[in-house]
Amino acid sequence: MEKIQRPRGTKDILPSEFRYWNHLTNLLEHIAACQSFKRIETPLIEQTALFNRTVGETSDIVLKEMFFVSHKEGESEEKEGSLALRPEGTAGVVRAYLEEGLSQEPQPLRLYSLGPMFRHNRPQKGRYREFHQFGIETIGEGDASADALTVLVGWQIFNALKLKKEFIVVINSIGCNICRPRYLQKLKNYLKEYLELFDEETKNRVSLNPLGFLDSKEEKYHSIVEAAPQSLDYLCDECKAHFQILLEYLDELSILYDLSPHLVRGLDYYNRTVFEIRSKDDKTGKNALLGGGRYDGLIETLGGPATPAVGFALGMERVIEEIKESKIPIKKPPLGEVFIIQLGERAKKRAIALISQIAQNGISVNSALSKDSFRSQLRTADKSGARLSIILGARELLDHSVILKDMKSGGQETIESDKLIEELKARLKIKEE
Ligand code: AMP
Repeated sequence: MEKIQRPRGTKDILPSEFRYWNHLTNLLEHIAACQSFKRIETPLIEQTALFNRTVGETSDIVLKEMFFVSHKEGESEEKEGSLALRPEGTAGVVRAYLEEGLSQEPQPLRLYSLGPMFRHNRPQKGRYREFHQFGIETIGEGDASADALTVLVGWQIFNALKLKKEFIVVINSIGCNICRPRYLQKLKNYLKEYLELFDEETKNRVSLNPLGFLDSKEEKYHSIVEAAPQSLDYLCDECKAHFQILLEYLDELSILYDLSPHLVRGLDYYNRTVFEIRSKDDKTGKNALLGGGRYDGLIETLGGPATPAVGFALGMERVIEEIKESKIPIKKPPLGEVFIIQLGERAKKRAIALISQIAQNGISVNSALSKDSFRSQLRTADKSGARLSIILGARELLDHSVILKDMKSGGQETIESDKLIEELKARLKIKEE
């Protein structure tokens, strides 16, 4: 029989990994809450048109990386249009903002979300086909202070993570619909000179989306990118002022940043500010941990009123890799602290009742009830990391008592059943709510 395997570019998150996920999720949610971001979650599937219109028909994500979802036979595509797994989160949040009437809420609206994204790219280290993003969006605020506060959330996250490597913010402005066309023309003219050096795919890319070329992570194009015209030189007065004041706010917040005049992002909806957080030794941003920017035109693109907005997305797998590499001590969750060992059929019944009672009291309890031998149950208790074992034999049933064994010291004593919960809480130092 052919072996069934997980799809390429996906990962199983194993029990041993969850302490990292929980650590990161708790930290992200705490920091988001401290700046008044509220959680929102949107479906994993959306109409393909949503991404075509927002992420952009000429972006790599839409051109090459979408996972399409087939409709059930007989269900017409005409009604709903084609469906796709979401490759990123902002488009769905903005769709929900319009569809659910969130524009009626006090603005700016601060939202965060956390969940899986799907991109059909070539799997490699740090690049998966299913991965998780934590994203924040501030909708209804055009002031540069919102950009600064968005960068601040990212900055606070990396400060709080206490990773070993040094991380920096890289930032640029790619202008707006008014000033960008002039820059794009300049860039196109510049890239024309190099056309014969490009392979077919890059030629195509350059003609469809010259800005996207600057996002090229290929070493061989590095010097061409480096010498390319810079958007900062073509900003209109308003975009220039916006960027300048943003940098002043970042100074005010003591956020260290590098101006990166060729930084662009792979999604079309950005205007003005774009930024990333990456490790200091990642010069091209190939393994950026967080990316974001301003997207003032996106809500209008989806049929809403002109509404400025700014946000970012952080790649959770990449951050977890860094947490592991940094060997940050993360507490194991208090699982299976108490192990029940039973000797005989009647004791087993009592053991089941005890499991229910202990768990109900908020204490994590474990057991291997199909095992009959005392030794093998004790061995399992030891291996599973239990701190205490409760031993139930025929005598204890008669006496209404249990034997409580400390797994570390090996010491044991008999305790009246009525006093057991109290004793467990005292030994495990569990405080009453
Ligand atoms: P983007 O949505 O492309 O702006 O990416 C934001 C962040 O998501 C990146 O900085 C990465 O940390 C993460 N990311 C993007 N694509 C992938 C992927 N294919 N696999 C893992 N993480 C990703």
